[in-house]
Amino acid sequence: MVTDNLLQIRSRIAAACERSGRPQESVRLIAVSKTKPSEMIREAYSAGQTEFGENKVQEMCAKAEELKDLSITWHLIGHLQKNKVRKAVAVAAMIHSVDTLELAAEIQKEAARINKIQDILLEVNVADEESKFGLRPDEVPAVVNTILDYPNIRLCGLMTVAPYTENPEENRVYFQQLKKLAVDIPSKNNDNVSVYGLSMGMSNDFEIAVEEGATMVRVGSLIFGERHYEDK
Ligand SMILES: *Cc1c(COP(=O)(O)O)cnc(C)c1O
Repeated sequence: MVTDNLLQIRSRIAAACERSGRPQESVRLIAVSKTKPSEMIREAYSAGQTEFGENKVQEMCAKAEELKDLSITWHLIGHLQKNKVRKAVAVAAMIHSVDTLELAAEIQKEAARINKIQDILLEVNVADEESKFGLRPDEVPAVVNTILDYPNIRLCGLMTVAPYTENPEENRVYFQQLKKLAVDIPSKNNDNVSVYGLSMGMSNDFEIAVEEGATMVRVGSLIFGERHYEDK
């Protein structure tokens, strides 16, 4: 099942790339495995999937330990508390959910401690939903400016979690807004910044996100099936 699902999603991503004149390799599929067992991750890995996303530090670290015989790239996509930064930095190749300057500062500190350059994305609440984490769009430029001075952080772009909607077309405008925000960030000729990465699009709306420039899509339930206890 997982293998078939992956094949289908990859071909849907390819078709969306084709429609928008983008090379297929410009989009990375991150398989969101939260709440799903390690055996399913192994199955996906056998089908060629190497990038996985988890929303909880504890769960990511436990699975990374169980699956340490595989060359998996782990993405932390859920809200990160300051007291879990050390563990997150030890395992995550990319942290998608940096939503405050304080959190970035803590990541800088922990990454420096282990001599790592940590790839991060800034999470932006483009739809301005009260229930969601993320920076307001107008806060982004100042946060970017400060982060540029953090030697152990490489800012790779922006991330958003679009609203849940029956009609994914409704989210197109949010994907366009995130892209515009990334493009408007002045590039500073700094090795530590490449703000053109865009992590956007989930099971419900990933094709629209690809059409609007996503470089990473985070797809869970379409690959692994519905989650039974959705605890964000
Ligand atoms: C769970 C989750 C996803 C994947 O959601 P699906 O709708 O199952 O594809 C993507 N991004 C984040 C931040 C998530 O928490």
